[in-house]
Amino acid sequence: MRQSQLFATTLREEPADAELASHRLLLKAGYIRQLAGGIYTYMPLGWRVLQKIESIVNEEMDRAGAQRLLMPALQPLELWQASGRERDYGPELIRLRDRHDREFALGPTHEEVIASLVGNELQSYRRFPVTLYQIQTKFRDERRPRYGLLRGREFLMKDAYSFDTDREGLDRSYQRMYEAYERIFTRCGLDYRAVEADAGAIGGDGGSHEFVALSESGEDTIASCSACGYAANVELSDVSHTATGDACPRCMEGGLQLCKGIEVGHVFKLGTKYTEALGALYLDANGRERASLMGCYGIGISRLMAAVLEQHHDASGMVWPAAVAPYAVHIVIVAIQDARQRECAERLYEQLRAHGIDVLLDDRDERAGVKFRDADLLGLPHRIVAGKHAQAGSVEYVAHSSGIREVLTIEEAAARVV
Ligand code: ATP
Ligand code: MG
Ligand code: MG
Ligand code: MG
Repeated sequence: MRQSQLFATTLREEPADAELASHRLLLKAGYIRQLAGGIYTYMPLGWRVLQKIESIVNEEMDRAGAQRLLMPALQPLELWQASGRERDYGPELIRLRDRHDREFALGPTHEEVIASLVGNELQSYRRFPVTLYQIQTKFRDERRPRYGLLRGREFLMKDAYSFDTDREGLDRSYQRMYEAYERIFTRCGLDYRAVEADAGAIGGDGGSHEFVALSESGEDTIASCSACGYAANVELSDVSHTATGDACPRCMEGGLQLCKGIEVGHVFKLGTKYTEALGALYLDANGRERASLMGCYGIGISRLMAAVLEQHHDASGMVWPAAVAPYAVHIVIVAIQDARQRECAERLYEQLRAHGIDVLLDDRDERAGVKFRDADLLGLPHRIVAGKHAQAGSVEYVAHSSGIREVLTIEEAAARVV
């Protein structure tokens, strides 16, 4: 991609009302734009990061045996009345009426829709188990949408649902998703902990875990014990009373450590709560009607992009882990009028693209200072500068995360990133 054509405007001023690094940097570097409170456009750079995250999620869901589908965002309110969740969700549920006065909700999550779907499709025990997932826009009328993509009213979620005919099956499906989550967050470059969690408005009786990205800016607090490995979101206990040094409620020996984090994923064993409420029944081997056992598994895809940034930035901008960076390489032409610089940069650009590498070429007619400032802000993993060494056919290579600089020939520079 040529930066002269890229639909991205970097801001000179610090964006107002952006308290957290991820929110400030995403706005400043032109990755997102706000339309209304908690509602954002993902600009081309932001969308590329989301797609990188999605492809990691797709690969790991596929490896775990989950099948992708796409359900409607618009859901008849009767489904929510049938499960009893219309009341539990309260004002967070966005409701609307069609021209015939029928009531709908904009899906904040899809347990009801999928339970009724699977109930209709799978009527024999022979068809189980199955795990399905989607990546979709979700709607929640959050009381306080804030921190940019961390708490939106419209946001991207990956939601998966498993259906089994017995407890052991549910345990296996849950374990497979749990392990897929570990791989997803590790691949995204996140420092995270899996902790025991409260099931909240989703409900269910079988336990749940949250995946929490460690960050001082997080809204969640986790308590962990180094003696026995216990770790939980303090929502689970009496929040106001848990403190660092308290005895561990599991082993009673270790002292609890508290730290802050961002909930990026959540897995639940739901049991039959939704399948019973929605009459999603199948016939077992003896011809008896039974409700299947359900699990559900969410990842906030757009929140994850912001959480990665909370952990990966420096004083001048973003520092993207390679796996989720919008482009792998940033080639910067220092002076666009210089034919040798242009030539070196173009040769490298074509070579790298021929190897299938995502390259951003800064071919703008801007001052060098502006270009370097923007490159620091955009934070791509590899930077190659076509500048004063271009006369001798060389470029400067900089690994963004370490800051190490080397003067290399074009071939050597290409070899660093291929
Ligand atoms: P929170 O406690 O932060 O409100 P939640 O527990 O209500 O989140 P879940 O119902 O567990 O969220 O949804 C699954 C995932 O969706 C969450 O783990 C989170 O990553 C993401 N998510 C939830 N609410 C939002 C939001 N308002 N904006 C962005 N992502 C969200
Ligand atoms: Mg919530
Ligand atoms: Mg939560
Ligand atoms: Mg949750």
